[in-house]
Amino acid sequence: MSAPLPPALAPGATIGILGGGQLGRMLSQAASRLGFNVVILDPEENSPAGRVSQGQIVAAYDNPTALGVLGQTSQAVTFEFENVPASSVAKLAESGALVAPGPRALAVAQDRVEEKTFLNGVGATTVDFVPVDGLDDLLAGLERLGTPALLKTRRDGYDGKGQVWVRSAREAADAWNAIGERPAILEARAAFTRELSVIAARGRDGQIAVYPLGENIHKGGVLKTTLAPAAVDAKTEKRAKAIAKAILNGLDYVGVLGVELFDLGDGRLLVNEIAPRVHNTGHWTQDGCVCDQFEQHIRAIAGWPLGPTTAHFRVEMTNLLGDEVDQWTRLAAKPDMRLHLYGKAEARPGRKMAHVNRVKAL
Ligand code: AMP
Repeated sequence: MSAPLPPALAPGATIGILGGGQLGRMLSQAASRLGFNVVILDPEENSPAGRVSQGQIVAAYDNPTALGVLGQTSQAVTFEFENVPASSVAKLAESGALVAPGPRALAVAQDRVEEKTFLNGVGATTVDFVPVDGLDDLLAGLERLGTPALLKTRRDGYDGKGQVWVRSAREAADAWNAIGERPAILEARAAFTRELSVIAARGRDGQIAVYPLGENIHKGGVLKTTLAPAAVDAKTEKRAKAIAKAILNGLDYVGVLGVELFDLGDGRLLVNEIAPRVHNTGHWTQDGCVCDQFEQHIRAIAGWPLGPTTAHFRVEMTNLLGDEVDQWTRLAAKPDMRLHLYGKAEARPGRKMAHVNRVKAL
């Protein structure tokens, strides 16, 4: 028999969040709407999330004292990014806080080889891949997978960073050098017609809720636009939802998870990667659904019933990067647009500063 579930967190309880960026900020705002207090841990003072929360601990993510304080203050702790040191999760759990998602989900999402191995194990197909620990592996991998193939660092890659296309065996040495000669993965090229994603949640009791799919357009490796609900046939929708469920159950997951998919255009979907957290491609839910991904995540980790995922509007979500945020007056004047500004002082080039959801009747 499985252990009884811990009781749901009552309003007034405190939730800890590792990471004070925009995802932490929007999680904090959702938690606050449900009556929770939020404490942020982030090394940067005055973080976007810290400024809308009850408190912020300014310390490194692996500072044991800070983690001890956060774990004791909070009844549940969660993350806005996946590269949280495993030792930090262990320290938090030691302090008595419920930590979600758990160490297994983080370990799987932190390493691209572990991730693809896990995904294929639960029937969520990926591109073919080869682990690469040196130039010999890379050359053998190119032989096996053909060219072009994509070399990515196993760990710490995001927004297209830490990856390089290899077009022939002659480029192998340069590519290995370009990614810093670090443990890597070589991936076969996915000949996709478009990129989709699915945002799904699993509660403490195993209940699952899946949002309609989004179609994503990237520029320079960074998400620019999500169109949701995506125009997909019923079979694709069903397949994507089954993939999300298999992943959530396979990880015994609690919280919101983002699954990035390649649509091969012939009925097949491959999983590119998973994000064990709220996801940029789920921002459309803020204005398209009654219960958005941020509230859903808080509900899940707090042991509450999950909220509805039905879309009531069609949404075009656009990220505002760097000085694009200066358009805020023009955008705020549009009756069909909802602006979500992250309160970041410095608009560095390429930095995610805000997003805008343009809503249309379904
Ligand atoms: P990632 O950092 O793995 O999310 O990759 C960033 C982007 O690179 C994806 O959104 C795709 O557009 C592209 N990409 C990643 N992996 C592959 C692949 N195996 N084949 C083709 N394109 C890829």
